[in-house]
Amino acid sequence: MHKLLIVGTVAFDAIETPFGKTDKILGGAATYIGLAASQFKADAAIVSVVGGDFPKKYLDLLVQRNIDISALEVVENGKTFFWSGKYKNDLNSRDTLDTQLNVLADFNPKVPESFKNAGIVMLGNLHPAVQNSVIDQMTTEPELIILDTMNFWMDNTLEELKKVIAKVDVITINDEEARQLTGEYSLVVAARKIQAMGPKYVVIKKGEHGALLFHKEQIFFAPALPLESVFDPTGAGDTFAGGFAGFLSKTNNLSFENMKNAVIYGSTLASFCVEKFGTERMQTLTFKELNMRLQQFKSLTQFEIELT
Ligand code: AMP
Repeated sequence: MHKLLIVGTVAFDAIETPFGKTDKILGGAATYIGLAASQFKADAAIVSVVGGDFPKKYLDLLVQRNIDISALEVVENGKTFFWSGKYKNDLNSRDTLDTQLNVLADFNPKVPESFKNAGIVMLGNLHPAVQNSVIDQMTTEPELIILDTMNFWMDNTLEELKKVIAKVDVITINDEEARQLTGEYSLVVAARKIQAMGPKYVVIKKGEHGALLFHKEQIFFAPALPLESVFDPTGAGDTFAGGFAGFLSKTNNLSFENMKNAVIYGSTLASFCVEKFGTERMQTLTFKELNMRLQQFKSLTQFEIELT
């Protein structure tokens, strides 16, 4: 088992989908990543920051999942990062209504001593300067650095983001963002261009249309499970990344073949995440349920053809 260091936002979200609306609820990239990775009993720690307004019960939730939160700083007189978004009717696209960095604006991350030698570093979505600082604090070179980011950072801090991209092994990004980053419409061409920027592996997430994994000339595709109930896609990307990283940290095998399985686990976990608002479904999910759905996934995608 590799130690897993997670960096990302721990946040308040206010979400609107065609099915309803929430007030401030628990969200944040690192929260979703941590909850997903905890399914693999990962030895994980979160580096992040919240304000004094962040409820203790949310912190307790992470601790119950065996996530080390000693580097989750609480700024007593500050406010927690807040994000608000509204989904269109197809649930595949959303508008960001508000992003308030609050305590994230002057956050100096401190990697715990015991995680400075983590084998896998999962850089969840947040300011690239923070992601960079975390990489710089590692005392032994991680076996795998995975980066997740979003258009907000491409719009606001592109040069800093490019520096991080140059240092990572895997990037997970959605289709729209891959196009924005490279100026290419074809995802195959976009993935090639992103590989030239640094990452040897590129995962492009396509929402309800699945995910693609690129490595050199190889491509692997995993569909998303066709679901009866899709309620709120928030955090699906982070959950995918958390599942991907959690599975790799458990299995200790960083080959392309094993990454295919990591993509499948990530997709399966994301399929649960979207069934309820926010983190609700991920809080109750059991490993048994995960494996049952994986079985469905297998029968959905398995076929035998004799090529003549
Ligand atoms: P996803 O739906 O996977 O893109 O992730 C949604 C989560 O990302 C929400 O819980 C937000 O709190 C968080 N989030 C939204 N915008 C940002 C941002 N600019 N930086 C970091 N995290 C963000």
